Formats: sequence, structure tokens, C-alpha cells
Amino acid sequence: MAKKTQRKSTFKDKKIRHYFFLNPYEDCAFTKCPQCNAKTKVRNFPLVINIEPQKIFILNKTCKYCVDCDLIITKQTEIEQLLAAAFLKINPEIIGNDYVVMGTLDEEDWRNRGKDNGNPSRVLKEMYVFKDWLDFEVAPAGWYSDQ
Ligand SMILES: [Zn+2]
Repeated sequence: MAKKTQRKSTFKDKKIRHYFFLNPYEDCAFTKCPQCNAKTKVRNFPLVINIEPQKIFILNKTCKYCVDCDLIITKQTEIEQLLAAAFLKINPEIIGNDYVVMGTLDEEDWRNRGKDNGNPSRVLKEMYVFKDWLDFEVAPAGWYSDQ
């Protein structure tokens, strides 16, 4: 059974939507929801990422999504590879910095973001912060029983 810990959103004045799980497990794709065990769907989300010290970046990414739990799941390694690829030419010194996936944008706001990949202050105003960031611990494969 997956164990859950949570951090409450500190963005009190923001619009909130969705729960988020940054999946640290390379070999676990979460085709089933770790919370309710339903089959997850594959969906695109424009993710708003804040990279230290102060860089807002929007990554339109395919994620796993549980409709019932309103939970977005995406692999940490995939995010980091995409960030590294995006910044390799324009801003390589930022690669490896701490970052937080803060929330999502509406598809329409994402499409209208303009050439600069979104003006940071506009993105912060338009974005939906996650309701909560969840962590699930996955038991290693082995001799387990469901009983
Ligand atoms: Zn679920």
C-alpha cells in the first residue's frame, strides 16, 4: 500500500486546482493511481515551474492523470531532462538548480503565451497553484501479499 505525505499549499491568495505528485521512481510509471488504484489517463498539462533563483518556465508535458483524485503524476527524471534540454543553449548555468512545479496554466493561456514563453508576472497571475503536493512511497517488488 502506498504511504502518503503532504505539504499544504502556501499560496493562499491563488486560484487552486489539481493535486500533484512528482514521481521519483524511475521504474514505476503509475498506470494505476497510487491513491485509489484506478487506471490513470494520459493527459497534457502546461506545468508552471519555478527554478531557483528566480526563473518561471512553462513546460507543456504529457502526464499521468487520475480523474477521480484530480491527481497529476509525472516523472521527476523526465521533467529534469526536459528542463536541461530547454536551458542547455539559453541559460546553461541554471541547470541543476532547485525547482518547484508550482501549478498549471489553462490550455488557452498556454497557447496565448507569446514568444517569450510567458511573461513571468502574467503567468503567476494566470496560473492555478496545486491544491497539494503529494508523495507516495512505493514498496519494492518482492514477496508481498494483497491479503
Ligand atoms: Zn485516484
